Amino acid sequence: MAEHNFDVVILGGGSGGYAAALRSAQLGLSVALIERDKLGGTCLHRGCIPTKALLHSAEVADVTREAATFGINANLVGVDMPAVNKYRDGIIDRLFKGLTGLVASKPITVVAGEGRMVGQKTISVNGDLYTGKNLVLATGSFSKTLPGLEIAGRVITSEQALQLDFVPSKVVILGGGVIGVEFASIWKSFGTDVTIIEGLPTLVPNEDASVSKAMERAYRKRGINFKTGVRFQGVQQSATGVVVTLESGETFDGELLLVAVGRGPNTAGFGYEENGITIDRGYVITNDRLQTSVPGVYAAGDIVPGLQLAHRGFQQGIFIAEEIAGLKPATIDELGIPKVTYSEPEIASVGLTEAKAAEIHGQENISVYEYNLSGNGKSQILGTTGFVKLIRKNNGPVIGIHMIGSRVAEQIGEAQLIVNWEAFPEEVASLVHAHPTQNEALGEAHLALAGKPLHAHA
Ligand SMILES: Cc1cc2nc3c(=O)[nH]c(=O)nc-3n(C[C@H](O)[C@H](O)[C@H](O)COP(=O)(O)OP(=O)(O)OC[C@H]3O[C@@H](n4cnc5c(N)ncnc54)[C@H](O)[C@@H]3O)c2cc1C
Repeated sequence: MAEHNFDVVILGGGSGGYAAALRSAQLGLSVALIERDKLGGTCLHRGCIPTKALLHSAEVADVTREAATFGINANLVGVDMPAVNKYRDGIIDRLFKGLTGLVASKPITVVAGEGRMVGQKTISVNGDLYTGKNLVLATGSFSKTLPGLEIAGRVITSEQALQLDFVPSKVVILGGGVIGVEFASIWKSFGTDVTIIEGLPTLVPNEDASVSKAMERAYRKRGINFKTGVRFQGVQQSATGVVVTLESGETFDGELLLVAVGRGPNTAGFGYEENGITIDRGYVITNDRLQTSVPGVYAAGDIVPGLQLAHRGFQQGIFIAEEIAGLKPATIDELGIPKVTYSEPEIASVGLTEAKAAEIHGQENISVYEYNLSGNGKSQILGTTGFVKLIRKNNGPVIGIHMIGSRVAEQIGEAQLIVNWEAFPEEVASLVHAHPTQNEALGEAHLALAGKPLHAHA
């Protein structure tokens, strides 16, 4: 049994873990990064990147189908799923090579194998011991299911959905959150008959209510079926398909059932609790400096309660490295983390929803403005509808931005600067937005909220 000592030992090489490793190495700390599978974790291999590649293929299918609208003669003759997967895997391979090369170019010791905490600062991997002056736990998450609902055969999660080498003819999706609506979007574009079942009253229930409503309108128009406010009871599988039953007795049949009911923290069996780490419902509890109940042990990414997003993991990893190096970084404002759903239409948001802003500040102390994309030239060119919704504190900064429409994800960069830098609409109104871009919609909305609308009625 060999013993190794480092300034920082990191368990898990996904978004949170590898970001902590890269930043620690930059800061001159010695680092061990322990990974049982592949560097890059869920996001690169089973999450963000593969789904967004499929969504791009889906967009190409839609554009081809609608080519005549733009005066182009083309026919969608089919979707070659093995070729779609090859395109997707090519992207993953290139990014994976880039990431492993980047990590290898730094003084980071990558340890292959499953690690387990065997002391407050020690991880055992394949019988060797890795002790850090500091530990970072970043073991990620897994696809959850419902009690009694077994993932097997035709009942799948996003992991199996990403491996399909055919386009299913009919699919039932359990869960109308981000992952559920993204797969619904992909499959519908590929020609699948899709039904989403959601227990809460709306699709994308974490978004501003007007965005959820607009999403439902858009999905209805696309012919994506959904049932909200209903409770799943069970599923029967046969050789050819599934039959899903709701508590109401209503049934839905399909070739597959995709279970997209959220992700749970991957923390069981790694010795966390035995070594004094406080766990609540599987999550590692930290303070706002991401320190766990054991001094010198930090946690990052999906195992920490909050938004389960790759960019949050990156930021937490960077934060922890800087904290360990004594740089005293500013804490991460969870409310300022941008959120994107990459379906067609896309949803992008940052800050407070209108309901939350009204609850915190009082409805009379906020102003809301919705700029319709029908007034935006580039959106007209693309043929998309949607809106940019702003919420400001009266005589104060913008505290929430919510957008829906094709490609609006690309606007989240400016939106998050506005909210996080606490800009006033009057300040943004004086910034020039290039014409014709969808980005102008943000400028126009701020002009309107500042009391001087240009291409809008206010
Ligand atoms: C279908 C899907 C789509 C998504 N799309 C997006 C998106 O578009 N944008 C976005 O921001 N987020 C997206 N996410 C979420 C994103 O993937 C996660 O938030 C992110 O990967 C979390 O990073 P992490 O470091 O916490 O965990 P992970 O990325 O899960 O990394 C954890 C790593 O730890 C390793 N590990 C676990 N236990 C051990 C152990 N005991 N020893 C050694 N290694 C271990 C695992 O093998 C894994 O590589 C998506 C997720 C899914 C499932």
